[in-house]
Amino acid sequence: MLLEGKVAIVTGGTRGIGYSTVKGFLDQGAKVALFGSRKETVDIALEKLRAENENYPVIGLYPNLLDTKEVEEAFKEVVDTFGRLDVLINNAGISQKESIYDYDVKDFEKAIDLNVNAVFVCSQAAAKIMKEQGEGVILNTSSMVSIYGQPSGCGYPTSKFALNGLTKSLARELAKDNIRVNAVAPGVTKTDMVANLPDSVIQPIIKTIPLGRMGEPEDIANAFIFLASDMASYITGVILSVDGCARV
Ligand code: NAD
Repeated sequence: MLLEGKVAIVTGGTRGIGYSTVKGFLDQGAKVALFGSRKETVDIALEKLRAENENYPVIGLYPNLLDTKEVEEAFKEVVDTFGRLDVLINNAGISQKESIYDYDVKDFEKAIDLNVNAVFVCSQAAAKIMKEQGEGVILNTSSMVSIYGQPSGCGYPTSKFALNGLTKSLARELAKDNIRVNAVAPGVTKTDMVANLPDSVIQPIIKTIPLGRMGEPEDIANAFIFLASDMASYITGVILSVDGCARV
């Protein structure tokens, strides 16, 4: 198993890419703290995991990811429970579709808050623990829109461009503390974020993907498993595209 003995936190772990990543990490021998935004959704996710395997070493927490104190307390609870913290996956995110002509700046700020500022808060809390330990891995969920942009909801691609900058900068800053920092940039992936799109929108998207299909959440989880594992010990500062070679 690739992650035997490692302890991971996955934000936005209640569904979609985050849930698959939690499950993938557990199946690779990791102990996992699943973070969500609400107790109800965290409990449902934990129940679903325990129905798969009642012995999974998994706990659920729901701190406000923008509140440094709440985040530090939650990270401390993870260390108290599992003994250490090896991997942080900053995965919680929101997308947006508004036109610039009727875009409230408060909505624009919501994308920056969760997709960038919360990643800063969680990475800071994790880095303090990992520096003490002498090692660690921070992984971020970026997006292919961080390379191409997108023609609406500009707060979302803007936040992901910023996330790539944060990833590369922290990789440089934290390398001396033996903390690796990378991002995975998924293409269109079958989660709630795209579930409600009609076939008339989905089919033209699939035509732009040379591998001929949308990504599955497990495709992204597998990239995280590799980047978190010791097999990736010389990889840091990378934005890894997992998108079937999509041409947007
Ligand atoms: P999703 O909507 O299924 O999951 C989003 C997760 O973020 C959920 O667990 C949700 O609880 C959590 N979340 C939302 N708001 C939160 C908040 N305020 N505080 C804490 N947690 C919150 O979406 P997904 O597709 O699984 O998205 C996961 C990540 O993947 C996001 O960062 C997204 O930008 C990225 N991504 C998704 C796609 C795609 O096509 N699905 C493509 C590229 C990147």
